[in-house]
Amino acid sequence: MKPSSVRRALAAGALALSLSACAAITDADQETAGAANATAQSASQSAASQSVAPAQAGGPLIANARQLTFEGLRAGEGYFSADGSQLIFQSEREADNPFYQMYLMDRATGDVRRVSPGYGKTTCGWIRPDKKRVLFASTQDDPDARKKMADEIAFRKSGQTRRYAWDYDPTYDIQEFDLATARYVNLTHTLGYDAEGAYSPDGKRIVFASNRAAYGRVLSEKEKAQLELDPSWFMDVYVMNADGSNVRRLTDVPGYDGGTFWSPDGSKIIWRRFSEDGARAEVYTMNADGTGQRKITAMGAMSWAPIFHPSGDYIIYSTNILGFDNFELYMIDAAGKRAPVRVTDRKGFDGLPMFHPDGKHIAWTSNATSKGVSQIFLADWNDAEARRLLGLDAKGALLADLAPQKATTSATISEADLRRHVEALASDAMEGRLTGAPGGERAASYVAAAFKASGLQPAGDAGAYLQAFEFTAGVSLGKNNALTATIGGAKSDLKTDVDWRPLSFSRIGPAAPADVVFAGYGLTAPKDGDNGEYDSYAHLDVAGKWVLVWRDLPNGIDSKTRIHLSRFSDLRYKAATARAKGAAGVIFAPAPGIKYEDELPKLTYESASGASGLPVVAVSGKAAQSMLARANTDIGKLAARLDAGEMAAGLSLPGVKVAANISLTYERRNGHNVLGRLDLNGPAEAPSLVIGAHLDHLGRGEASGSLARGDERGKIHYGADDNASGVAALLEIAEYFAAEHAAGRLTGVRDVVFAAWEGEELGLLGSSHFVEAAKKTAGKADLAGAFSAYLNMDMVGRLKDALIFQGVGSSSVWTREIEQRNAVIGLPVTTISDTYLPTDATSFYIAGVPILAAFTGSHEEYHSPRDTADRLNYKGLYDIARLMALIARSQAQAATPPDYIKVENTQSQGRVGNVYLGTIPDYASEGVKGVKISGVVQGGPAAKAGLQGGDVIVGLGGAALENIYDYMQAMNGLKVGQETGIIVERDGKRLNLKMTPAVRE
Ligand SMILES: [Zn+2]
Repeated sequence: MKPSSVRRALAAGALALSLSACAAITDADQETAGAANATAQSASQSAASQSVAPAQAGGPLIANARQLTFEGLRAGEGYFSADGSQLIFQSEREADNPFYQMYLMDRATGDVRRVSPGYGKTTCGWIRPDKKRVLFASTQDDPDARKKMADEIAFRKSGQTRRYAWDYDPTYDIQEFDLATARYVNLTHTLGYDAEGAYSPDGKRIVFASNRAAYGRVLSEKEKAQLELDPSWFMDVYVMNADGSNVRRLTDVPGYDGGTFWSPDGSKIIWRRFSEDGARAEVYTMNADGTGQRKITAMGAMSWAPIFHPSGDYIIYSTNILGFDNFELYMIDAAGKRAPVRVTDRKGFDGLPMFHPDGKHIAWTSNATSKGVSQIFLADWNDAEARRLLGLDAKGALLADLAPQKATTSATISEADLRRHVEALASDAMEGRLTGAPGGERAASYVAAAFKASGLQPAGDAGAYLQAFEFTAGVSLGKNNALTATIGGAKSDLKTDVDWRPLSFSRIGPAAPADVVFAGYGLTAPKDGDNGEYDSYAHLDVAGKWVLVWRDLPNGIDSKTRIHLSRFSDLRYKAATARAKGAAGVIFAPAPGIKYEDELPKLTYESASGASGLPVVAVSGKAAQSMLARANTDIGKLAARLDAGEMAAGLSLPGVKVAANISLTYERRNGHNVLGRLDLNGPAEAPSLVIGAHLDHLGRGEASGSLARGDERGKIHYGADDNASGVAALLEIAEYFAAEHAAGRLTGVRDVVFAAWEGEELGLLGSSHFVEAAKKTAGKADLAGAFSAYLNMDMVGRLKDALIFQGVGSSSVWTREIEQRNAVIGLPVTTISDTYLPTDATSFYIAGVPILAAFTGSHEEYHSPRDTADRLNYKGLYDIARLMALIARSQAQAATPPDYIKVENTQSQGRVGNVYLGTIPDYASEGVKGVKISGVVQGGPAAKAGLQGGDVIVGLGGAALENIYDYMQAMNGLKVGQETGIIVERDGKRLNLKMTPAVRE
């Protein structure tokens, strides 16, 4: 679930779950009892049946879960003594008291002793470190305590119900109970709800929460109403000496501060702070004197009940980020620098955790019981796995602050090290390495630390490893969008986002009222072979006017014409055409009878494509019709003629004027390349060799390019093959080079620059930035002679049949180089000449640098959350890293740089169009007649048609196919929604299948 929808859900039911004191679990019981019943059994069984293997990184976080308390209606908030020998908890288990009482369990004998007096309400217990006393909050000194019990029992017997809400009875005080003398001491004695207390680790102080300030002064009318509505709004954190003296207030902000505990060394206090409206809560820490308040979580949900691991290195807490009444345990590093990591996975309530002092066990409150009510659970805790997931070392330092390679990896390229790097980069903590997002930054820090550990010189900005670049991460509607249509004297404002919407490449700002003309499909195409010239603008004066045009292509044209015209039908191309004709703006509309899923095109930002220089908007079919109704022509008949492929002259639309104000907000973010240089003592003027791999991936699929299935949307796209594999190889090659050089075994003619790029998935942004910056430095329009060559690794972790070398056509040296170096390694290799590749190598190639790109092929997990570290072929990755290292070694020592061969770009033509088939081409299939596919996208047209990986497509839409270019041409002739024939060869047999193309989103 996305954070925004969580917020909406919370706002909708804001106070329904009033997570009060520490004891609000009963609310959750009542809200979710039914659901819990259904899942509790299986959840506790699966938890209990988890392995009993010794806890180690990679195993489950929680194992051997078992229910600890059973008696009574419910129990919760189990907290260990400092030595772990006792557990204090609250439970409703006595017939004459409907409220919680406090109990102490001896963990050696199982004996349970009630420590509260048996009447009144109690909550929030804690054991003093010397185990001689306990504290808890209690109303036992309230003269009406017994009457309130009787009233509650009578109410429950009456059969009436009410929404459960924790009551902040102002007679609660913190009571201390001496276990030897069985005497109580009231430590707070103040009107107001005093609760949530805990002794400091040295036993000398108590931290607690209280709304006493609201009772100690005269309140305004507004405040009185607030106190009536929600007394917890006035709660703040206090600290006092253990005898109740020297009370100091530590927080003073509107909204509920509470749920306080100490850090294991007593230097810090951890608590949760609710938003003023009570809908959200976040975890905070501060120094014991109230200074240094720091927000640890930022989940935008109800995150509460935080407590430290005994090491102090990380924090566990409960949050409903995954659903309003689904509280799960999460953990986060103590400084809150990394992303939180999920611990439990079960619908229902899991909260109020506390670690055993040994750090290897955990108690928490859960309704995973057979009755679906809350009880206390115990389980083994896997500290090593927790640290691995959080990116913490054994001492609690963040992984990125370390030098990961020195301690952990060997100086030669090793399979184990490659695996370690892939697992780190494709871990939960890296969150799919989205450029500009925290996970991407973590990954960049990881690579920088590895470069440093290997001894590379920083080669980024100003003596650093990182090279920052700014990019547009998204576009949204601004504040003052308006489109006014005047039709026959009647002026109307179209409703933004409903009747019209600006396109992401529109010029922003006002557009004065201007006439509107209609230009059919807005196409101009030159004569090309058999295809005649096509011009929607013939004899139409558009200067200074808006042009209304229909999207896409005429519906009824034959496939040959469609292929021809599709190259000119992209919305950007049509807008550029209108601008070239002198139009003031473009209005796109759906042609009559065309059904789109969204009538208005989505506002999506495509990077690497600038604005159009004129206002460009899309309107609904209805809005377009009311404008077209002013034409002196029958539009239905005109549409039929156009759809049949006829050209028709454009029309003026008398009495139609349009004015607009277009406001778009672009979100700018920073991405980072990571650059390290190894000086091999060659002459200073020799062009450097660059070897690189892209570091970024798709995050949770926020950016375009995700192929996640419906049930996978929003999950982390781990990108183990794409491209943790390439980065792992890069790090190992860098380490190998540096070690060889340090040992005196490697000197070279040129420096080697090692580069991990960000922004690749968004459009080669990082490598383009590097190239542009290098051009500036070189003072030239290209990089010929500035770099000797660029070696790329993108998706090299899934070696199956053969390693694919792309870009071999960029220089005459590559085939010989591959032959010689692979003679040592012995990999099966396929070479491909094409130099225009969907990866960073292209940034270098178009700047005049020879390229060689390694690739092990696409697969069904491509760009989905299933591209995980366990699916990689590490032996293959090891061989590829060694082969690339040998090629790089040879290239670093080559006296003359490779020659550069210019190849015409044939592939970028004909890619225009909106047809989507869902096939995954097998790039290793050179020499095959037809188009071999390595797989199909789940649920896509090809999958529905029955195609499968390994098929060779030999016919499509009536055309015979020899290669991928034929295939793309044939695709352009297809129509969305219209069934067509597709012929494949499978196991030597020809299959005639039927397929219905879909719209490319
Ligand atoms: Zn990718």
